[in-house]
Amino acid sequence: MTIKQALDAAAVELKCSDSPRLDAEIMLAHVLKVERSYLFTHPELELSDDSLQCFQRYVARRAQSEPIAYLVGNKSFWDFELAVNSHVLVPRPETELLVETALELGAADEALRVADLGTGSGAIALALAKECPAWRLLAADISLEALEVARQNAEALNLINVEFVQGSWCEALGTGCYDMIVSNPPYIAPSDPHLIEGGLPFEPKLALQAADAGFAAFKSIADEARQHLRPGGWLLLEHGFEQQVQLKALLLELGYAAVSGHGDLASCDRLVVAQWNQAQTVASD
Ligand code: GLN
Repeated sequence: MTIKQALDAAAVELKCSDSPRLDAEIMLAHVLKVERSYLFTHPELELSDDSLQCFQRYVARRAQSEPIAYLVGNKSFWDFELAVNSHVLVPRPETELLVETALELGAADEALRVADLGTGSGAIALALAKECPAWRLLAADISLEALEVARQNAEALNLINVEFVQGSWCEALGTGCYDMIVSNPPYIAPSDPHLIEGGLPFEPKLALQAADAGFAAFKSIADEARQHLRPGGWLLLEHGFEQQVQLKALLLELGYAAVSGHGDLASCDRLVVAQWNQAQTVASD
């Protein structure tokens, strides 16, 4: 079978995907260890039996909705590639809004202390560390497996301004005081039918699902972050498309100021920004 024939057949099989042809090309390029462009310049090349079988195994897995990022082991985010595996959420392009907003709020040339809670693959922390070499990033996650992925990604990108700590939300921050705390935490309600659709069943539940109708992580982070933000420091939380009103109300209730909501490129509510501006931190109750 030639490259072209294999791609044509796979594209038919991958009906579950929004981009069957592209998926097939990415997987075949991965199997052959070539750039995608090679497939277009060598459509008549005969595939070896091994390559064809390996490709067909990938196609079969993809046909069951397994995310392509797990199949090929990486995903582009911001302006780099991240290694990913099933211990981390596949970084989403929407999350770049959080990165852009953090870059607008913080001066790139100051030695800001920024924490990314639930860093997963490290997507957010590493994008910020790369854009702002003067910033000192702390990337935290409760999952040691995820931290290992993030650490390896930092190493591959030669980033030396990121520290990795295990812990649940602000617990990882110790007594540190931060200029900015950012997070794309789990926010899907356990009863949400989306959790059993498409590629989500392949992603870690820990990264997707939160009790309290999806608000458990938001509540913990927003509450605890008050102890760890300097006066005037910023909290940035990515959230689900119907959660912005409630999340803004929660932040106001907890004493945050300058609470604002932001939409992504698809005009979906996606991010809430809030400022901690009291002169002293509050005592926890
Ligand atoms: N911070 C990571 C990301 O944005 C992981 C988020 C998560 O696991 N909920 O991709």
